Amino acid sequence: NLSERLERSFKILKGQGRITEINVAETLKDIRRALLDADVNYKTAKTFTETVKEKALGQNVLTAVKPQQMMVKIVHDELAQLMGGTSTDINLKGNPAVILIAGLQGSGKTTFSGKLANLIKSKRGKHPVLVAGDVYRPAAINQLQVLGEQIGVPVYTEEGNTDPVKIAKAGIKEAKAKGHDVVIIDTAGRLAIDEEMMNEISAIKEAVKPHETLFVVDAMTGQDAVNTAKEFNDRLDFDGVVLTKLDGDTRGGAAISIRSVVDKPIKFVGMGEKMDALDVFHPSRMADRILGMGDIVSLVEKAQEQYDAEEARKLQKKIAKNQFNFDDFLGQIRQIKKMGNLKDLAAMIPGMGKMLKNVDIDDDAFKGVEAIISSMTPQERQNPSIINGSRRKRIAAGSGTSIQEVNRLIKQFEDTRKAMRMMTQGKNLSKMMNSFM
Ligand code: GDP
Ligand code: MG
Repeated sequence: NLSERLERSFKILKGQGRITEINVAETLKDIRRALLDADVNYKTAKTFTETVKEKALGQNVLTAVKPQQMMVKIVHDELAQLMGGTSTDINLKGNPAVILIAGLQGSGKTTFSGKLANLIKSKRGKHPVLVAGDVYRPAAINQLQVLGEQIGVPVYTEEGNTDPVKIAKAGIKEAKAKGHDVVIIDTAGRLAIDEEMMNEISAIKEAVKPHETLFVVDAMTGQDAVNTAKEFNDRLDFDGVVLTKLDGDTRGGAAISIRSVVDKPIKFVGMGEKMDALDVFHPSRMADRILGMGDIVSLVEKAQEQYDAEEARKLQKKIAKNQFNFDDFLGQIRQIKKMGNLKDLAAMIPGMGKMLKNVDIDDDAFKGVEAIISSMTPQERQNPSIINGSRRKRIAAGSGTSIQEVNRLIKQFEDTRKAMRMMTQGKNLSKMMNSFM
């Protein structure tokens, strides 16, 4: 699957300090192949990899993150961008606001109509009404009535009337009269696109002039979903897409293609058959899902925000020259602390959370260390070798610790410094800091 392929290809980059044309080429080829496998169309996949390449090349890889993690972040952000960047709301203005639901049979229109009514009633304080526009099958009307009862939303139907345009108009009129502020019109679909269905849904749209037309599509249908979306959009010029059945084992590649083929936002995703299984669509979360790589992206983001690459470079020079001192040490501790709660941070690395369950790391892990360093004079920090017995005594008293603790810290500091210098470029700084926790 996509995530495995990406993971494998990212491994190629491992251990390289900078993303270059050579070490990225193979990865990009794999990404493109993986996207094609996930039902992303060829043109989209090609443009996508070109953009990623442009962004990745010449990126200085932050010391705190590995190149392949950096690539994951770039790919993730590009994917999210491709799916619209941010989430898009539906238009509920209008008195009442009219929402028309369209899509093939079995895509999940009726279920979504119920879910949407439930959502805007419970979370937006609206008073919606459902209109049964699938007039050909009594079972369809009954299905909507059952859902309406379940969520406490009235359903407008007309027995014996087989003209959906008339029913839709009458439903809106009735809604207005009864003070409802949102009307959701469920419609009939066919198993495949045909003229009759398109004419019918177009006629309803023409007649009721909805504030929002939503196209519902089954995410499991892959490339077919994209083709259907295109045909519906050509006829209906809808406002947004609803991707249903994302609770199934689809990776959601359709989300990328649909967005880039019809250029309309995905607004909701269906996550199950129950009435509360509806989520607002978030491009970034969908990118997570497509990549399937845990929260590694947020980890990289945090590190990137807080970690100044330039500082890191200077620090490495110092380490190489054995000039790393207690001020630098304190700076490192503060840097690590800025990155957030250490436990949270560790939990974001796939697999780490479980491993660390019984290990006690808390935010105060560095407290004693910080106190001791704060009690040193600037000269002592810059030049730790002058810290003799009487100075240690003074530092212990000043920091409210003991001589033993001060001795231990200085010993650890010296060992660390030695180890750092021995490691070629002083990478893995954070790993060494861990020995103090
Ligand atoms: P319609 O023909 O477009 O009105 O589709 P329905 O709303 O009747 O849904 C068809 C089937 O898909 C029903 O069995 C629904 O329960 C199911 N369904 C709809 N949305 C979802 C979803 O998000 N997840 C899952 N697992 N099933 C769904
Ligand atoms: Mg239906």
